[in-house]
Amino acid sequence: MVDLLEYEGKIIFKEYGIPVPDFKVVSDEKDIPDFNERMVIKAQVPTGGRGKRGGVRIVNNREEAVKAMNEIKNINFDGYRAEKFILEKAYVIKKELYISVTLDRSVEMPVTLASAEGGVDINSVPQEKIYKKPINPFVGVTEYTKRELSKFLGLSEDHAQEIGRILVGLYSIYDKLDASLVEINPLGLTDKGLIALDSKITIEDDALFRHKEIPVRYFGLDEIELEAKKKGLSFVKLEGDIGIIANGAGLNMATIDLIAQAGGKPANFFDLGGTDDPEKVIQAIELASKVTNKVLFINIFGGVTRCDTVARGVVQAINELKPKFKLVVRIRGANEEEGRKILLDHGIDSMLNLDEAVERVVKLAGE
Ligand code: GDP
Ligand code: MN
Repeated sequence: MVDLLEYEGKIIFKEYGIPVPDFKVVSDEKDIPDFNERMVIKAQVPTGGRGKRGGVRIVNNREEAVKAMNEIKNINFDGYRAEKFILEKAYVIKKELYISVTLDRSVEMPVTLASAEGGVDINSVPQEKIYKKPINPFVGVTEYTKRELSKFLGLSEDHAQEIGRILVGLYSIYDKLDASLVEINPLGLTDKGLIALDSKITIEDDALFRHKEIPVRYFGLDEIELEAKKKGLSFVKLEGDIGIIANGAGLNMATIDLIAQAGGKPANFFDLGGTDDPEKVIQAIELASKVTNKVLFINIFGGVTRCDTVARGVVQAINELKPKFKLVVRIRGANEEEGRKILLDHGIDSMLNLDEAVERVVKLAGE
């Protein structure tokens, strides 16, 4: 998931006709102009709750803005520091609303979520105060939904049009950018109508290749997960001490389940995918050695990924990396005999039976 920063989201909002305050992105004192009106300066960090932690300040002139910026630079936002800031006109807010479009897996459709109680974490708003309506992707946002939403939020006739346009904008962004969440919290009711005072846009990873304009940047990933991501490897760190490399997400999950069932604790999920490149196997083992120094379990069901390819990669990796962990290899399938022979020639006795392999892995981890 790629999370956009508030200002990046607001640029997109503007393109899609969602009103946002006029803003300037600043990162240094010298970027802050002279001014004499109520402005707001906001930390650009990929985490919520900035308001509560002092990352959003009202300022009346340049001097106050500079002071606020320097103070905000020292705030730790869940491990992030603000390097960029939004400087924008501070509207007088009559009411803070919430609105978003997100994927609801339970109904297998995007949904509109909205509440008249915005400005706070939506999870803390009681269910009955949240408007929730699926959007049929073949139909889009209907006129009926716009009216119903406006009524639910208690908006007057003149704002009904605006909220309708905003919802259409949010859904278009969700659709065109392959987002999994497009959120405005708060959507401010001001003298100038409804204005998006904040933005949150999350883009689906698997669609990034379609959106070269989106900066591929990950927040909140573990260092090793990030390294894997950059190498195009599918890797998730877990809590345990048994490293796992398997080919295919299904075999990975099954391996994790079997190890857990046998009383072991998997250290990671690692899908080698279909590969015929020993180099990829070496990369995988190198990465796995960062999550375990106890046992590494390589579980391969050969097809596209041939057993001999894996065996060559394993042998080379062990020779080069000289890892400290104990190794259990279970390989079956395409070129199984050749693969087992390559391993055996290098003193690695591979296994065929999965249950026995799992048993050995868990036993070795307990030693
Ligand atoms: P978050 O706490 O990280 O979600 O940051 P927000 O952008 O939502 O800002 C937090 C709070 O600051 C909002 O709920 C508003 O009450 C206030 N705020 C943000 N922008 C403005 C603005 O332009 N004018 C005024 N008066 N308040 C603002
Ligand atoms: Mn917010």
